[in-house]
Amino acid sequence: MELDKIQDLSTWWNDNYTLIADYDLTEKKYLGDSQNKICRFCGRKEPEVHFRKIAHAIPESLENINLFTNYECDECNHKFGNTIEDHLNKYLFPNRIASCILGKRGTITYKHPIFGDNRIDVTNGHWDVKTDGKVELVQQIDEHTLQINLTRQTYIPVNVYKALVKMAISIVPESEISNFDNTIKWLQSDERAIEDYFGKFVIMRFFPGLERFPYIKASLFKRKDDSLITPAYQFFICFSNYYFQIVVPCFKKDKQLDRKRFSFRAIPTPLDFSQSIKGSGLLDFSSHEPIKNEEAPIQMHFETSEMSIGEIE
Ligand SMILES: [Zn+2]
Repeated sequence: MELDKIQDLSTWWNDNYTLIADYDLTEKKYLGDSQNKICRFCGRKEPEVHFRKIAHAIPESLENINLFTNYECDECNHKFGNTIEDHLNKYLFPNRIASCILGKRGTITYKHPIFGDNRIDVTNGHWDVKTDGKVELVQQIDEHTLQINLTRQTYIPVNVYKALVKMAISIVPESEISNFDNTIKWLQSDERAIEDYFGKFVIMRFFPGLERFPYIKASLFKRKDDSLITPAYQFFICFSNYYFQIVVPCFKKDKQLDRKRFSFRAIPTPLDFSQSIKGSGLLDFSSHEPIKNEEAPIQMHFETSEMSIGEIE
């Protein structure tokens, strides 16, 4: 990004928002009171529900091994893991393969959803690619660029969005959580009625190459002044080569935005000084319809490539 654009964006963010939660996931941290655990998603506490499992504030599949929460009961943890976080995982799976984000098992395997003999196993940065020729999983574009052509498993866009909102809700400071009653209800339900006052857009930015965000960073910003025509809360997370930013739906404070246009601006990051962004954009995750067999081509750039397509059988 050009320097003056970075400065313009930084000024805009300073004028309009205050950072109210900011986590660099470099060391172990537990959110909330460990002696008095209350689930912020269902409002229940012991003995009605249990808190025996360690709940991740940011999904483990993004390689979060540091930020945990006392605000999430086992029941909600189980439910989110099998619903919205599963959709996020399916959506991000090709990106995890491309960036070797291995998750808790230390290995990750991609299988083509239709031609299952076409697969990639990634372990410790090593790729094992098997293909029967029906699918060109890895394509050499030029000396420094490989493209992987993966197909996503079926996912529902609004559930991917909800998984991002759930991360934001996990890091909301206790003093602000009462503003999100309806948002939490919406997260827990399949109803659509309360959510349609603005679209579910995500700014996704992809920084190709070996220079990455050194750790996961998750931040929540709050609008400085409620008279501003900009959303009350915005959340962003960056990890590996990726950056995601959303408006956190806040039905209490954002009624004023109904049908109004507002600008959705990215937050400058350290990588903006050194890299150009590829494959970025505003993605619409409003749909409740399952997306089947979506192609997800991702280009990877290498200054010096140690991988080659010679590995393909
Ligand atoms: Zn709960």
